[in-house]
Amino acid sequence: MKAAIYYRRGDLEVIEYKNVPEPELKAGEVLVRVRACGVNHLDIYTREGSHGVKAPLPHIGGLEPSGEIAALGPGVYDRNIGERVLIGAFTSDGSCEYCLAGHDNLCANRKIVGVQVDGGFAEYVKVPASACIRLPDTVSFVEASAIPAAFGTAWHMLNFRAQVKPGEWVLVLAVGSGVGSAAVQVAKVLGAKVIATSSSDDKLEMATHWGADAVINYSKQPNFQHEVRRITNGRMVDVVFEHVGQMTWKASVASLRPTGRLVTCGGSSGRWGETDIWGVFWQQLTLMGSNGCTHREFYQVLQLYAQGKFKAVIDRTFPLSELGHAQKHLIERKQFGKVVVVPE
Ligand SMILES: [Zn+2]
Repeated sequence: MKAAIYYRRGDLEVIEYKNVPEPELKAGEVLVRVRACGVNHLDIYTREGSHGVKAPLPHIGGLEPSGEIAALGPGVYDRNIGERVLIGAFTSDGSCEYCLAGHDNLCANRKIVGVQVDGGFAEYVKVPASACIRLPDTVSFVEASAIPAAFGTAWHMLNFRAQVKPGEWVLVLAVGSGVGSAAVQVAKVLGAKVIATSSSDDKLEMATHWGADAVINYSKQPNFQHEVRRITNGRMVDVVFEHVGQMTWKASVASLRPTGRLVTCGGSSGRWGETDIWGVFWQQLTLMGSNGCTHREFYQVLQLYAQGKFKAVIDRTFPLSELGHAQKHLIERKQFGKVVVVPE
């Protein structure tokens, strides 16, 4: 099969597009013919060996593949050849205390597809059958591959972790990113009122198009809590959707009303933030983390997507043979929306 593979870690030049043997199936696994695969910054960190990410070598990246089941391994009786599936970004053992409690996203033996095991930047990928989520007929492969990291993460954060209620105010940081743009749509589906922030007026205009009720350009207002106060008539927000980290942390916490919840899935600007501890207990705040989403939530998000509740923003697709160009496009932050590669 054709694959974008690398034998050593390094810059874009280490990626080779070549023929490699098809994966051999073990018990419980299926082979998926890849039709599309989302491109993420995590793929770039994995290739570089940066940010503490170390994949086995040689390696094929790609954590958001979708396609059709092409072969069944020993012991797989409940799946069908030709079934359209999204691979739910990680594999889990189904038996540890986290899996048994319904938190397979925190599985003690979780393996991220395209990081700890080979991923979807190839014509075929193998995974345990349990990691394949059936794809509704109306969701295209390219759309499906734009869903896991953005919508799955935002859904887990706002629905499960922060438990957003209708009528609440949600402040979504950095709406120009994949997860930020998904968060606006998720918050609206949950019935919230949304304030969107970005450093770009163009991206704020898009956020308004997705349903944001108010916007703040934080390149002009770094202490955006004052603008939050004005927009909410002094009430402040119930929930802050954080993923920027160090740069925005202080203003994010300061934007919460008493009993407010901050939920975070990242720290792209840095990992250390200053927190007013007195403010946390006096206002009875909750600061919570969030890590991906469960396979059940991938299923829920796909159903909502098929019902037209969400719309993925696709920047462009590249052929798999041009994975390096696709990653360069991401590194140069030229994209607006999701970048997806498609095997020829
Ligand atoms: Zn587990």
